Amino acid sequence: MITCTGKIVYKGVTMGKILVLKKDGDQIKRIRITDTQAELSRLEKSIEQSQKQLQNLYDKAVKEVGEASAAIFEVHQMMMEDEDYLEAIHNMIENESVNAEFAVAVTGDNFSEMFASMDDAYMQARSADIKDISNRIVRNLSGKGDDDFMGEEPVILVAEDLSPSETVQMDKDKILAFVTKGGSANSHTAILARMMNIPALVGVDMDLDQLKSGMVAAVDSTVGEVIFEPNSEQCLTIMAKMKEQEEQQKLLETLKGKDNVTKSGKHIHIYANIGAVNDVGYVLENDAGGIGLFRSEFLYLGREDFPTEEEQFQAYKKVAQMMAEKKVIIRTLDIGADKQADYFQLGKEDNPAMGYRAIRICLSEPEIFKTQLRALLRASVYGNINIMYPMIISSEEVDRIKEIVAEAAKELDALGVAYKIPEQGIMIETPAAVMISDELAKKVDFFSIGTNDLTQYTLAIDRQNNRLDSFYNAHHKAVMKMIQMVVENAHAAGIWVGVCGELGADTELTETFVNMGMDELSVAPSMVLKLRNIIRNMD
Ligand code: PEP
Ligand code: MG
Repeated sequence: MITCTGKIVYKGVTMGKILVLKKDGDQIKRIRITDTQAELSRLEKSIEQSQKQLQNLYDKAVKEVGEASAAIFEVHQMMMEDEDYLEAIHNMIENESVNAEFAVAVTGDNFSEMFASMDDAYMQARSADIKDISNRIVRNLSGKGDDDFMGEEPVILVAEDLSPSETVQMDKDKILAFVTKGGSANSHTAILARMMNIPALVGVDMDLDQLKSGMVAAVDSTVGEVIFEPNSEQCLTIMAKMKEQEEQQKLLETLKGKDNVTKSGKHIHIYANIGAVNDVGYVLENDAGGIGLFRSEFLYLGREDFPTEEEQFQAYKKVAQMMAEKKVIIRTLDIGADKQADYFQLGKEDNPAMGYRAIRICLSEPEIFKTQLRALLRASVYGNINIMYPMIISSEEVDRIKEIVAEAAKELDALGVAYKIPEQGIMIETPAAVMISDELAKKVDFFSIGTNDLTQYTLAIDRQNNRLDSFYNAHHKAVMKMIQMVVENAHAAGIWVGVCGELGADTELTETFVNMGMDELSVAPSMVLKLRNIIRNMD
């Protein structure tokens, strides 16, 4: 039995087998072999096994995230058949009498370096892919098997850390909980876990070398604890807590269809945050009044190239249609910082959180921006879409956005395509935007406060850096005063204001937000009924 503690990302209790995801950092040994033929047939078998795994991954991804995102697995399959790559591995085994693992790893590194040094961006992007396929073959050669989620039984995912693009590709139904050694509670991986309604702990003090896939673990993220190989008494305690959790959920279910209204009659909208079209299921299941933040950049992650206008249009249209006439606030591309996609070629920056990201990319590369805007304007015909712009720091940016929206509309006019210009708002997530919120309020239809970034920029605390946790105060007076100021400036200009950052789901602040006059809170779908419960019990 090993008990470890970590920081709570999403509260819940669960028990099951663990799947340990290790990065392939292990040193591969060079071993001299005598039977070359046997080594070549080992290689052949592991390539066959790898091809099968990729085919399964492709089929699963097509069903879950669509053909465009699944294409990566097809590319991997093709790369595994590449004659030059295979010949280099064969030659090494035959001429140097080395083990297949070593030959694959060295060839993978050589090809990867070669691709990385090419001028062509597409070829550069292949550098990571060739490493990926080589790692897969090596894993299969050394009998470590597949780290992908091919099993039917849901697992507790244990990892060093997970990037947002890794998380977004996972099959949510196969994950009971996330337990990571690294990570911070405000990272996008944490946000995804909350959205998926999956108990999650980050910054867990565990030793991954002591853990093996298949071990049983009990996660109680309500108290920030995970127990590996729990004893029978601990299992009983966890099972009782799981039952309690189920009952609480049943109680919350009775609030579906009810209003978010205090005893004294004050109403507030509770919307949900999503990152993918399929998340609409969670929104409807939890009876949210609308979507307050669709993080559209997740459509751009985990793929090889930009999503086309048509792909985006179909995604936005589907969300708008599924939500019927309910509000769907789609935030334009907020890529950069921890959300990286190779094909953007953003380059390395010393301070990515304060760097070339979000609206800055859109304003610098208007063609990328306009593709998304055209898709949004077209989709607006099919429902109650609103557009929201992230990371705003000046009125001039808003003016420039309006010009680009007008250009996008003109392009659609020229093509004779139906569209609608929806309501447009901005995120207030920089101290600059807070301080000029009186001015900005006159230019837009609504404000949504992004407390995750607002807190990071106000306190000068990187939201990704868990070493700063002891300095971090989510309820810092400076942030609370800023929120109050934004509400007042919004109302003075006659526009509505909400919170879409994680603070909106902080149940200790629900009452404060309602009293401040906040019009909307947009939270992880799993938090909607919990907030409704608090609001309905408020005087
Ligand atoms: C925020 O910054 O609070 C926000 C909602 O946006 P994101 O977390 O995606 O940066
Ligand atoms: Mg933000």
